[in-house]
Formats: sequence, C-alpha cells, structure tokens
Amino acid sequence: MPDVPESMPEPSPNDVNPRDAESAPLAWEALPDGCWRLTSPGFAMNSGLIVGSRLAVLIDTGAGPREAEAIHRAVRRITDLDLIVVNTHAHGDHFLGNDYFRAQGVMEFYAGNLAIGHMEESEAEQRALVRSLEPEMGAGVGEHTAIHVPTHALGSGPRELNLGNRFITLQQVGSAHSPGDVMVRAGRVLFAGDVIEQGGPPNFGDSRPSQWLRLLEDLAAHEGKDTVFVPGHGGPVDRDFVQRQANELRGAIVLCRRIAAGLTEGREPTDIELSVLPYGPVESRFIYERLAATSP
Ligand SMILES: [Zn+2]
Repeated sequence: MPDVPESMPEPSPNDVNPRDAESAPLAWEALPDGCWRLTSPGFAMNSGLIVGSRLAVLIDTGAGPREAEAIHRAVRRITDLDLIVVNTHAHGDHFLGNDYFRAQGVMEFYAGNLAIGHMEESEAEQRALVRSLEPEMGAGVGEHTAIHVPTHALGSGPRELNLGNRFITLQQVGSAHSPGDVMVRAGRVLFAGDVIEQGGPPNFGDSRPSQWLRLLEDLAAHEGKDTVFVPGHGGPVDRDFVQRQANELRGAIVLCRRIAAGLTEGREPTDIELSVLPYGPVESRFIYERLAATSP
C-alpha cells in the first residue's frame, strides 16, 4: 500500500457520529512518512499515529477513558487497521488510556522496561495527576480504569516493527525526563515524548537532568536537519530547537551547581536563590533537587 498521502485532507467534522457531536472531534495534523499528531485538550498531550499497510501504531493513549475514547474515535477516522500502542513514558497523561484501548482489542503495548517498573510503583501518583480531568481514573472506579501496564518491555537495544511497507524503530533512550523514556522513529519523524517540550518548560519531577542534557546534545548533534521532532506537548520542532533546549538545560545545571556550592552544609536554596534559573519556581526547585539526587 502506498504511503498515506501527505495531501490527505483533515477528516471532516461531518465524519463524526451525531451522538458524539457534543464533544468536538480532535483534529489530526498530517506529518511526513505516514505520521500524524493530535493534541488532547486536557494536558495538551500529543498522541502520534503511524500508519502502514497492515498495522498502525498509536503513541500515547491519554489520561484515562474519557480522553482515550476521543483519541480512539480520531484514530478510526484515519485507519481501520489493527493497532499497536507505544507509551513514551510512565506519566499518567500518556498511558492511563491504555485500559480503554485494551478493551477495543489492542493486544500489544510497548514501553521501556524502566517505565513499566515506574508505572507499577507510582500508580497512586499517576491517578492523582489526572484526577481533575478523569475522575473515574483518579478514583480507580468504573469502566476502563485499570492500570494496564504494557505487555512488551523494551530494553537497551532498538526494536524494529514492520507495519507493512513501513518500518519503524522503538528505542528506550535512558532516563532523562523520566525512567525509561522511549522514542519512536518513522522516517524523518521522531516522536520524542516529554524529552522535548515546546510551549512550556520541561518537567523535571522524575528527571535525571545530566542524562537529559546528554540525550538532547546527542540528538542535536546527530539528527538530520530535516528531522521532525514531535514533543510530548506542543508543536513539532526541528534540530535547532533541540539544541536551544539543550543549551538552556546546560546553563541551568551550571547555575544549580553554583547555587549548591554557595550554600552552607544542609541548607536548601530559597525560591529567590533559585529564581536565576529559567524555568519558574516549581520546575526550578525540581531540577535543583533532581540534580542533587541523581548527579552525575
Ligand atoms: Zn511526562
């Protein structure tokens, strides 16, 4: 089967079942090489879709059954092929829709082995994260609210999948934004999860800042000029954006070390001392703490 043409029109709102009319359909953005992106409104989280001739891959399933249902409807406007799911990481806005997709017949779910461990350990935290938007998932009560942990664990090596006339590569890239971040490559498109953030600051709560910096510098050095990076939140970006994110992070790490060196033993920095960092008070505190806990 040929590629899904890049000129394929956006699915029309008329395609939507009338009973769904009260919730506006999620809009796909067509990307090169059989790829698509849509943003769920709650966390502004990007899902990706890659379509081959035999199979399609959905990247990240939303924050619970409500978002997952809307994502699933949107997927079915593009393709009726059997689906495989990949979770980029273990934060609730990216994988708590898995149980809904399991109920729709999806059998194969992939994530990094470290991310799967984090999903299992941090269930309460992930449910709390989504509670305001997905009250059933927050409470663990109702249909499709189980924690469906991926069936296929990715190790350190790349895993290639053949979708039919389209090969894609899944790669656990280490623990940068969170334990066991995974990226998915299809041609020129690289779905990067929250390792790359556009339109808002990176989230450092579960991060290893030094590893994150090395990963960003590696991507900026080795990816092509035409690589389309799809962040976990925000619009697609290019290699120059990734380099700028790396530069900002490198500068922030230097500042954190300078702040730490100026503190007497055992004292935590104040918000004012942290305000030299480029990320705002919450993320500045997180990067400082995570750097201290995980360096180098
Ligand atoms: Zn995340």
